[in-house]
Parts: sequence; structure tokens; C-alpha cells
Amino acid sequence: MINAMVRPKKRLFLALILVSLLLAAMSTYGLWVVSFPGLANISAYLPVLLGWALAFFLLVLAVGIGGVILTIAGFPTLTMFQAPAWSAVNLLFPLAIRIGRLLDVDKERIERSFIEASNHLVKNRGIHVPPERLLILTPHCLQHESCPHKITHDVSNCKNCGRCQVGELLEIARRHGCHLAVVTGGTLARKVIKGLRPKAVLAIACERDLTSGIQDVFPLPVIGVLNERPFGPCCNTRIDVDKVDEAVREFVVK
Ligand code: SF4
Repeated sequence: MINAMVRPKKRLFLALILVSLLLAAMSTYGLWVVSFPGLANISAYLPVLLGWALAFFLLVLAVGIGGVILTIAGFPTLTMFQAPAWSAVNLLFPLAIRIGRLLDVDKERIERSFIEASNHLVKNRGIHVPPERLLILTPHCLQHESCPHKITHDVSNCKNCGRCQVGELLEIARRHGCHLAVVTGGTLARKVIKGLRPKAVLAIACERDLTSGIQDVFPLPVIGVLNERPFGPCCNTRIDVDKVDEAVREFVVK
């Protein structure tokens, strides 16, 4: 049986990332205050220079996070803000996870919220790619554990026997004319991306792998679809194929 997953709220991630920004600003100010006397002894200009550099750094972070929040709130965001927005998110995300842990918020919940926010940002960009430039990337654990076929080397070795959903994904990929790859981990995923050079990726994985994958391949746009684990992690996982089909249709050029 597949357990229905509660749709995560983007606001959890946004709240934690805002608190992270506040903490980063306070720590940066503390660093400046502590280093002030030592630097002033060397030169009167040094504390001022450091102050401006740190203020600029915080401003870029604040603009980035502000851009993410405005986009998610439905405001149009300039393309030039997308790179600082993602850099700010990548930088502050580990801090957000730590703050969440202190507040007893489950890490997977924060990751789901991050994926939801990231998907929203990608969809908001209205990206459409030719089908042959779209890659569906799925983990090896989707293949049934007893399947003897080597599908990580070539997914068309799948016989669509119905024991797992790899056959259904292959059908979706064939119908739309996009690529499908089954990978055993992040290293193989990066190798496939390097070889195929897609313009967009539809990634299927668990919270942890999707979160790190989305951040790893930036600026490549990724829509993340969470897998379901009725038999526990990394074993005979499942996916909502309708959701995958819908995401592919949204991505490919009509
Ligand atoms: S659908 Fe394909 S991958 Fe899955 S068990 Fe059957 S042959 Fe193996």
C-alpha cells in the first residue's frame, strides 16, 4: 500500500531561511565588532573596509532571499536576481536545517518544504524545452529487487513486466520523446547529466537526494518528484506516474 504524503508547505522553508538570514546578519555584525580593535591597530581604514565588504555580502543575501519570497508570493522577479537568490538559499540552507533541528522540526519536513519551494520557483520561470533535451532521472531503488535486467546501463533493457514502475516511466519517456535514466547514486547522475546535456531535469528521489541534487546541478532547472517508500528506504520504491506525466507535459515545448 502506498501512504499518501501530506503536501508540504513552502512557508516552513521560507520561515527557517528568514531566521537563518537574521542569524547570519547578527553573527556577521558580531565578527566585525570583535575584529574592529585589532584591525584599527593596523590601519584606521581596515575596519571600515571590512564593514563595507560584510554589509555588501549581507545585502546580496537579503536581496536573494527577498527575491525567493517575492517570487513565491506571486510577484514577477527579474532574471538577474535568480542567481543571487539560489546562491543565498544554498548558503543558508544548512543553517536552516540546524535551526529546524533546534526547534525539533523534522529534517525531512524541511527538505520537502524546500523541494516544494524550488519546484514553484522553476515552474514560475515558465521553462519549456524540446522533449529530447528533457531528462527523467530516477533512482535504482524503483526497480524491483528481484529484477535480473541491467537497466542502469541501458533502461531499454526493461521488459515492462509490471513488477515495478520502471516500465511505466519508460512508456512516458517514449511517448514524449524524452530521456529516461536509472541511476545508482549522485556520481552516476552527474555523469548522465554531463553526457546528455539536458536543458531540464525531472528528478525522482527521496527528500535528501532531491535536496542535494537540486542544489548540485544549479543553474540547471530541476522539478523534483518525491518517491514513496512503502517497503522502507531504498527498496522497491514507488512513484505517482500521473504526477511524472503531468510534469513532463508542463516542461516540454508544445
Ligand atoms: S518493469 Fe522492468 S525494471 Fe521493473 S521488474 Fe519488470 S523488467 Fe525489471
